[in-house]
Amino acid sequence: MAQIVKRTYKYRFYPTPEQAEELTRTFGCVRLVYNKALEERTRAYRLEGRKISYVQSSAVLTGWKRTKDFAFLNEVSSVPLQQALRHLQAAFTNFFARRAKYPVFKARKRSRQSAEYTRSAFRWREGKITLATMGGPLDIVWSRPLPASAEPSTLTVSRDAAGRWFISLLVEEKIAPLPPARTVVGVDVGITVLATLSTGEKILSPGHKRAERKKLAKVQRALARKVKGSRNRAKAKLAVARFHARIVDRRQDHLHKVTTRLVRENQVIAVEDLAVRAMVKNRSLARAISDASWRELRRMLEYKAAWYGREVLVADRWFPSSKMCSTCGAVQQSMPLNVRTWGCACGASHDRDVNAAKNILAAGLAERRNACGAGVRPQRDSSLAGGWQ
Ligand SMILES: [Zn+2]
Repeated sequence: MAQIVKRTYKYRFYPTPEQAEELTRTFGCVRLVYNKALEERTRAYRLEGRKISYVQSSAVLTGWKRTKDFAFLNEVSSVPLQQALRHLQAAFTNFFARRAKYPVFKARKRSRQSAEYTRSAFRWREGKITLATMGGPLDIVWSRPLPASAEPSTLTVSRDAAGRWFISLLVEEKIAPLPPARTVVGVDVGITVLATLSTGEKILSPGHKRAERKKLAKVQRALARKVKGSRNRAKAKLAVARFHARIVDRRQDHLHKVTTRLVRENQVIAVEDLAVRAMVKNRSLARAISDASWRELRRMLEYKAAWYGREVLVADRWFPSSKMCSTCGAVQQSMPLNVRTWGCACGASHDRDVNAAKNILAAGLAERRNACGAGVRPQRDSSLAGGWQ
């Protein structure tokens, strides 16, 4: 059965100087409205214990627009300003539900600059998008096609620290599940290797190339040498931002390819609970990068699995995936990080990560059977995994 899912398509675009000017002004107004409304809500909450609703905020915004000091807010599209208040509302809802921290102010330098437009604020005709306040369409690079008959319902215009402009289109799309696959796979995540599969395959992380790390260090050193506030410093800063942006893009691209492939090829994908990794005391940069990749990998696996009729199983967080022999189930006393291959008393020899991936798969499958009431211990159930493979 096909299902309707909401999906975002992101493209680069190149604004004319007038468009860039208007959008920059809009970003500024969005930030101002968000920050001012946050300030008011904070005051009401802290001083009077009063909650301000979206409707009240919206009325206050109308009031600001009538004052001389804030009349300039009338010069940009009103929709992104309203959307900023909606985002603030969502941030408060999450805060009150204890899902998020108290909302913070948007700083021009720190946060990504963006403005969101709903359907009434733009025209979508013959593959061209025109914001209601603008004369001509945006020059978008359609790097991948929008699905036929897709109607964008919301769009977000943004500019990143590297000065690149993007447009994100939210569309509803019909996605049909893939035909069932016969294979299952366990995934173990690492630092230098992005993921090791129970099949023995190792998927490398992007952005771990020596040449790249050296180049990054070079642009960062160049930045450190520049005088604060100078034009050269601004230039060097942009160079660093561009370099980071390229790394992030490539990583994201790589993760998309990996997760799409895993979901296509396998009916069940077993992964480790992230909480396990948070407990490992290793604050290195490589670790932070790999944690971020891993979170993103899991997020992608989960939504793609839901789209295509696949299943993601999460192995128990206390599970000794590295220390246990996937052949006989014996648990080793210790397994230092530098041990990459080892032999078990049962005669099996293991690649550390492949063994862990096999255990994660077996544990994930066993846990699912437990959840179904089969009452099987999660320890050793390679029979099921074997049957699948
Ligand atoms: Zn063994």
